[in-house]
Amino acid sequence: MLTVTPIPAFNDNYIWLLQRPETQRAVVVDPGQSEPVMTYLKKHGLTLEAILITHHHHDHIGGVEKLLAEGKVPVYGPNNSAIPHIDTPLTEGDKISILDETFAVLEVPGHTLDHIAYISHGSSKPLLFCGDSLFSCGCGRLFEGSAEQMYASLQKYTLLTEDTVIYPTHEYTLANVDFALAVEPDNQHLHTYQVKCQQLRDNGQATLPTTLKEQLAINPFLRSDKDSIKNNVSKHFQLSLNRPVDVFRHTRLWKDQF
Ligand code: ZN
Ligand code: FE
Repeated sequence: MLTVTPIPAFNDNYIWLLQRPETQRAVVVDPGQSEPVMTYLKKHGLTLEAILITHHHHDHIGGVEKLLAEGKVPVYGPNNSAIPHIDTPLTEGDKISILDETFAVLEVPGHTLDHIAYISHGSSKPLLFCGDSLFSCGCGRLFEGSAEQMYASLQKYTLLTEDTVIYPTHEYTLANVDFALAVEPDNQHLHTYQVKCQQLRDNGQATLPTTLKEQLAINPFLRSDKDSIKNNVSKHFQLSLNRPVDVFRHTRLWKDQF
């Protein structure tokens, strides 16, 4: 079992650091900045063993070069030649060994076309590193892909086991909950979750990780098939939406304007 720690970066990014307990071996996901990672490694006497990248945005790759200057390690990432330093380009179904744990690759286009996610298949609960595809109570903006692509990507997550622990890259939770409550004001899970997350933020703590079980109960972008969402989104746009993918597209549109 790996331990996973958030290293805050920029305003609201988390660089997730994976560590094999009882060892000094560590791996980071999406190091947008090098300084906070270097500081953490030094403070805890850890050795960086690999870097995982989910997509090409600067706040996810900006620290790679400086980290490599400290010592060469393998860099895994999407099959996108525009990202420098990736020496193992990955596509759907590829498996890699990270800290003696096997991770499988999911292609999850939508936020960007090159976006991938990493899911561990170890002895413990599955760990999902989903970058900017899924946030707690939200999903990534559609910068490059279509609503259909993003919907299909998120559907892949809903097929994972409910105990999957999810590690998104941004602390957007409270703002996302505000929106989710506009979409689904009668969802009691959301009200409870809002109180819990507000307390965490008041104490300076991350609201992440989350679990698939939790997200299935609160995340409007994973609930496009629910009548409550379908009816409220239809009402908002004065349309009669039926297909979940159309509900999803309009939920995303609503969030962009929220
Ligand atoms: Zn991004
Ligand atoms: Fe980002």
